[in-house]
Amino acid sequence: MAETLSGAQTALDYITSRIERARRRFGPPPERVQLVAVSKTFGADAIGPYLEAGQRVFGENRVQEAKEKWPTLRDRYPDVQLHLIGPLQTNKAREAVALFDVIETVDRDKLAGVLAQEMARAGRQLPCFVQVNIGAEPQKAGVPVAEAVSFVQRCRAEHGLIIEGLMCIPPEGQPAGPYFALLAELGRQAGVGSLSMGMSGDFERAIAMGATHVRVGTALFGQR
Ligand SMILES: *Cc1c(COP(=O)(O)O)cnc(C)c1O
Repeated sequence: MAETLSGAQTALDYITSRIERARRRFGPPPERVQLVAVSKTFGADAIGPYLEAGQRVFGENRVQEAKEKWPTLRDRYPDVQLHLIGPLQTNKAREAVALFDVIETVDRDKLAGVLAQEMARAGRQLPCFVQVNIGAEPQKAGVPVAEAVSFVQRCRAEHGLIIEGLMCIPPEGQPAGPYFALLAELGRQAGVGSLSMGMSGDFERAIAMGATHVRVGTALFGQR
């Protein structure tokens, strides 16, 4: 784990250069690939150096945990952009809307409806991603592949959400490429511009398949 500014800078530079190399090698147009630094389980002390080194986009998977550490960090770095990348319960939607800037895990109508209400109430229209259960895993969150496109349409037309992209977590222990390709195809069908896919072990492959957002935890912060 990088506990110092120079350690954080080195880790960030290394991941950023790998992202850039993958983007140049495979990426179609010059569209930038956004690094979402996944800081879950790491405390403010560990995150600080990455902020100091210039990283501004972070991912957290739990509302409660984000609430404990981010408001203070945000006071010091007001331009931080926090992505919710974990499952969201409707009873936490209000807090999520107050704490986060992007919700990546919209996956059912009830949640879409409650989020829309809470965003209207707070006067904060957050961009969202629809999470797709790309490997049809029963224990995983996400809308089924066959329903992804119609769900995006409903989120937009019925719930009035801004759906910027699709997000997925492929099954562990299998090559992720085909799952990334499937998400990219669903993204084309749904007419979304962004794809959040790829983690520490496979973000270059994800970029090759069209990722616009890669969510990297371990490779930046070390083992959790
Ligand atoms: C933890 C997590 C990541 C980061 O995983 P690493 O393998 O540590 O890079 C990415 N996406 C989601 C949804 C996560 O929960």
